[in-house]
Amino acid sequence: MRWSFPVGRLFGIPIRIHYTFILLLLFIWYVESTMLGPRAGFQAVSFWVLIFLCVLLHEFGHSLVAKSYGLTIASILLLPIGGVSQIVELPREPAREVAITIAGPIVNFLLAGLLLIVGEIIDPSLRFSTISLEGGNLIVNLFWANALLGLFNIVPAYPMDGGRILRGMIAMRKDYSEATRLAADVGKLLAIGFIVIGFFYNWWLILIGIFVFSGASSEAEAAALSSSLSEIPVRNLMITDYRTISPNEPFTAVVEKSLHTFQNDFPVVSDGRFVGILTRSSVIEALHHRMHESKVGDIARSSFPTIQPDEMAADALSRMRTSRVTVAPVEKDGTLLGIITIEKLLEASDIFPKGKSLKDGSQK
Ligand SMILES: [Zn+2]
Repeated sequence: MRWSFPVGRLFGIPIRIHYTFILLLLFIWYVESTMLGPRAGFQAVSFWVLIFLCVLLHEFGHSLVAKSYGLTIASILLLPIGGVSQIVELPREPAREVAITIAGPIVNFLLAGLLLIVGEIIDPSLRFSTISLEGGNLIVNLFWANALLGLFNIVPAYPMDGGRILRGMIAMRKDYSEATRLAADVGKLLAIGFIVIGFFYNWWLILIGIFVFSGASSEAEAAALSSSLSEIPVRNLMITDYRTISPNEPFTAVVEKSLHTFQNDFPVVSDGRFVGILTRSSVIEALHHRMHESKVGDIARSSFPTIQPDEMAADALSRMRTSRVTVAPVEKDGTLLGIITIEKLLEASDIFPKGKSLKDGSQK
């Protein structure tokens, strides 16, 4: 989301453009207009804008299918290497994931088909048989751009669309994180292939290769982390012996406490109920604004997720990350049982790497 700006909304989905995308357009304009004149510069930039319009439609393919499953789309982001639909919490249902993913390339194939028909109607002499992206007829160029976009995206290089489809198909038969690991391995191999081929033919492929490789690595890591935490209930990790702060305490009394510990956030508890989180940054801010008269309750954060003791650690971790808190209450039927911290959750994933030890122990 950083380094991007909003350009509008369509079907309720915000569209954002990354600043580097504008740099790319400026670069294309500069190169083309210095080499071939201002008219060529304008034409090249317009062509790229049209291609990215097709990329945008591809992303709408993903986003609208996701929306039909009731998922929230944070935004569609356009980058120089393509688009990204930022879907909040992708479902762990392989069939749905495959449907969402395949919708993108299908949009490009439909656009290619449409351009072919329109081209034939407007000018029957147009030749679609040879690949052409520059010069020649705009409709033919756009036809090929869409055909290649569709084909390129179904290459099974996870985390590209084709790789996600592959992961979904493996996940229909195997464990989800195992499927991610396999798809990521295929993705990394193909990424190396892209980079090697890119050196000889097209530097663009090198960029894509680097993007695919790092994407595959980080997604495989995230999958391993969540699988190791997906079978441990929060109950086993929650902290029951912890220091609390009362909302009525003067804020200055806790400054000492908060500055002499590595703990960043403190639970604010009143009458056995978790009422807020005093974050280190709010303490520093209050000090900065000389709010020495304030009480803890005045500056504590009062919005936070409540974690259930039977909730799996992976879900708790993702909810806490979404809400940007490092500590949350563990409650059952309104009774505070303990607290859970991000630190504790991550620590547990180190103790049980990849979930093997736990899983093998619990499954017969
Ligand atoms: Zn896609």
